[in-house]
Amino acid sequence: MISEDVKLDYDDVLIVPDKSPVASRKQVMLEKRISFSERASAEYVGVPIMAANMDGVGTTDMADALRRHGIFTCLTKFHSARELADFFNGAPERGEFTAVTIGISDEDLQKFVEAENLAKGRINYACLDVANGYTDRFVDRVRKFRDMFPGIVLIAGNVVTHEQTSRLIEAGADIVKVGIGGGSVCETRVKTGVGYPQFSAIQECVHSAHRVGKAIVADGGCTVPGDVAKALAGGADFVMLGGMLAGHLEGGGTVISKYFRTDEVDEAGNPIVEKRNFVEFYGMSSKTANEKHFGGLQNYRSSEGRTVMIPFRPSLDDTVVDLLGGLRSTCSYVGAEKIGQLPEKASFVRCNSTHNKVFQDLD
Ligand code: 5GP
Repeated sequence: MISEDVKLDYDDVLIVPDKSPVASRKQVMLEKRISFSERASAEYVGVPIMAANMDGVGTTDMADALRRHGIFTCLTKFHSARELADFFNGAPERGEFTAVTIGISDEDLQKFVEAENLAKGRINYACLDVANGYTDRFVDRVRKFRDMFPGIVLIAGNVVTHEQTSRLIEAGADIVKVGIGGGSVCETRVKTGVGYPQFSAIQECVHSAHRVGKAIVADGGCTVPGDVAKALAGGADFVMLGGMLAGHLEGGGTVISKYFRTDEVDEAGNPIVEKRNFVEFYGMSSKTANEKHFGGLQNYRSSEGRTVMIPFRPSLDDTVVDLLGGLRSTCSYVGAEKIGQLPEKASFVRCNSTHNKVFQDLD
């Protein structure tokens, strides 16, 4: 069976500007209230962006730095119960902007139980994260988690279709993580042929979630602030970012310097050598991640993630200001005084090319 409907990615659409009462970008409110009425943390009040639970992004340092901008972080799965408890007990407000991420193993669940006990009710959000959110085992785990922790806001995924979004919500998810194969260091589409164009996935999944008062996070595939704006305007309650927040010291990676011979020479005629700094970034299903955390790649699995060296970015604040500045500007173009108004204010046009790339490699 082939679905002949056209499905869209961020690159296939642009947001159309419209008459706007917003006089200055400063006026735009980037905080949004998202309600989780039955849970202990009844609502989220913050910027609807989440740092991904990836090495290089989902660290406690990143969570502290991003929280100051009102941004949420999903920690990686690789923090012990003790580390988690120390983090959450260290400052109560961390619990409002940070999720503990676990997989579906019994050990992970046990770790969450321990962390929860030690953190004395300060953990409000959990992220149950697997590459393939379609297995019955995963849905059972969502249900089990919900039964064990009725007060915790549960983020669960990943999926890309409205049917599975509904199943996860029925099992107990509050925020469904939407996106398969679109990530910056993801190779799922190459290795398996599986995926779904992200912009359409958001629109379809959000429809199922909002019908029953639940939320989605659009996960993966944003490469520029404009993509984040498109995800939010397309209906996503949150947007999760990996690559766009990677490359900073707060992510915990090591800075590696490389030296490049340029075409230029100095006054003495010697070639000028330029130093450039990089940080390693890799997918959580990559060979690198498997070696680091699981002692190697099992021989029945293929690596579905890439390992890349990305330019070191010295200032996370600059990155965040650029991102939030872009979102403010989107809001002012479409007349949204609050970021939460983007879906009702924005309309989209399909396009063949989103922006001019002529000088993009000359920065
Ligand atoms: P990005 O913002 O970098 O485009 O995408 C981040 C998302 O990519 C993550 O939140 C996660 O869902 C996904 N991801 C991270 N590592 C891997 C991987 O190794 N393989 C796949 N298929 N997806 C990954």
